[in-house]
Amino acid sequence: MSDKLAFQADVSKMLDIVINSLYSEKQIFLRELISNASDACDKLKYLILTNPDIAKDSGAFKIKITPDAKANTLMVSDNGIGMNKDDLIKHLGTIAKSGTAEFVNNVKDNGSVCDLIGQFGVGFYSAFMVADKVEIVTKKAGESQAWKWISNGCDGFEISEAERETNGTDIKLYLKDDAKDYTDTIYLRHIIRIYSDHIDYPIVLELGEAGEETVNTASALWTRHKSEITEDQYKEFYHHISKNFDDPWMTLHFKAEGNIEYTGLVYIPSETPYDLFQPDKKNGLKLYVNKVFISDKVEELMPNYLRFVKGVIDSADLPLNISREMLQHNLLIEKIKHGLISRLLKELKKRTNDYDDYMKFWNNFGIAFKEGIYEDFSNREEIAELSYFASTHDLNRKTSLGEYIERASKEQKAIYYITGDNINVLANNPQLEAFKNKGIEVLLLTDPIDEFWPQVLPNYKGYAIKHISQAEADMSWERKEKKADEGSMQKLLDLMTDLFKEEVGKVVTTEKLDKSPASLTVESGQMSIHLERLMRNHQQKTAFASTRILELNPYHPLIIKLADMLQDENRKAQVEEISKIVLDQAKIAEGEAISDPSFYSEKLSDYILKAIA
Ligand code: ADP
Ligand code: MG
Repeated sequence: MSDKLAFQADVSKMLDIVINSLYSEKQIFLRELISNASDACDKLKYLILTNPDIAKDSGAFKIKITPDAKANTLMVSDNGIGMNKDDLIKHLGTIAKSGTAEFVNNVKDNGSVCDLIGQFGVGFYSAFMVADKVEIVTKKAGESQAWKWISNGCDGFEISEAERETNGTDIKLYLKDDAKDYTDTIYLRHIIRIYSDHIDYPIVLELGEAGEETVNTASALWTRHKSEITEDQYKEFYHHISKNFDDPWMTLHFKAEGNIEYTGLVYIPSETPYDLFQPDKKNGLKLYVNKVFISDKVEELMPNYLRFVKGVIDSADLPLNISREMLQHNLLIEKIKHGLISRLLKELKKRTNDYDDYMKFWNNFGIAFKEGIYEDFSNREEIAELSYFASTHDLNRKTSLGEYIERASKEQKAIYYITGDNINVLANNPQLEAFKNKGIEVLLLTDPIDEFWPQVLPNYKGYAIKHISQAEADMSWERKEKKADEGSMQKLLDLMTDLFKEEVGKVVTTEKLDKSPASLTVESGQMSIHLERLMRNHQQKTAFASTRILELNPYHPLIIKLADMLQDENRKAQVEEISKIVLDQAKIAEGEAISDPSFYSEKLSDYILKAIA
């Protein structure tokens, strides 16, 4: 009796892409199957810790590769945890992971299946690149019934009861005609060595009459000495552990000695993972105790702002029978975490020596890394030191806070910043005009987190970190232009205060503006306009809306003219009309929406027409 089941829609779509891809490195399917076999052994090894009898008869862990040239089949077997019927349906009929839709979209966008197969956890399905039928016989450790799963990769799959003596899984591929190479033992040996040498269990190649041969080194890579590991081996291990297929930007392999001993082999990717900002994104570290895999969900091992770091931590000092629950609030784990952070920060510091190289890291992960200034109280200064920001000094090059300070004049006591959605809009914000005139550099911050970290880092190396609206320094400079006379200016201020009382708390003159007639700002110490906008976009009510201040430039010919026009009572309506346009322009420069776009564009067109008529 067998059950015929359909693939979940996502799986079908994905299989379609995998099978029809003209992907050249088809051999990675073997790496994926071996990697799954190794995971299955890891899982059983962990179960045995608490239940030593669960797999008495299945012998020492190993992964066996059996080619059959005559039948044109290839079998990958393991004596790991195995699967029951539910597992088969759940793991090999659906895609549990949220990344599938992204996988499909990504392939459409850039067509590179190769890099994506592993990253999105579609590993098993890569078998269908070389096989037109896959048959699985598997028995779960601790259960008595074995199961068979068969599929051609298109019309769903069939599950039926089967026989298998001990726990484990056999995955038999009926190879396509053009995939005969994968029965060739020389070729198999070659690709296993390239892709799977680091696997901790023996990978045994069945040679028929010549017997069996263990092909890999079969010792956990991180336990080997650095000098015995090649760069390629480090890279392959990174691919295995991270399920990414980029090259690591940083590889850090170390042994910590002292009151707690542990080995770490951790990596920073060279590409941004698709899920960096998914709320359920877990850290990428796997915890081993003396080479026994314990968990890849130990959140306490890595702070959130370093969630992109991938790798392995192995400590013999943790008790082997440690339960996953016991790992929370564990003092040793806490110590490992601190050690790990300081090593990573130290290593990053070294890499800042090469700006272009460091920017590869920064552009991928800076936005997450900066969260550390906010999140990690004890390392705040170090993280700030490693952070880079866009700045008015050079729009094409990011600056560190240290470099900013070096450029600052002796009189300058603060590091100034402005926040907004977009660097180019920010760079032209009228509020910066005084800073430009006085040669004061301003950081242009565009990430949401930039609204928050300055609040917890009020000082850096003796310099206050301040939003430009909080500048205390005298922002005026020597002017040659004519200024509106005070009396008529006051009248204009009164008119606008009344006209805009719904939208603007105050209308004042300022010495800060140069080229712009007016600009919007908020009272010093209030929530920035950008933050308010972010909150609004996240459906937070604008209950906290800061009071807007409309600042007028008394040196600007348009403002002078408006003040003048007000002397004539008959022109008041026109002054009001133009004032509205002035306010709209101030809003636009700030990146804010204007309240009546059609009024704005109509009136502006009218005035332009008059000017050119
Ligand atoms: P991933 O390895 O990223 O989870 P795969 O597509 O490679 O994704 O595998 C899907 C799932 O199928 C695995 O998570 C595992 O639960 C199950 N699986 C695959 N191969 C085996 C195996 N040899 N033994 C036990 N379970 C397996
Ligand atoms: Mg896998």
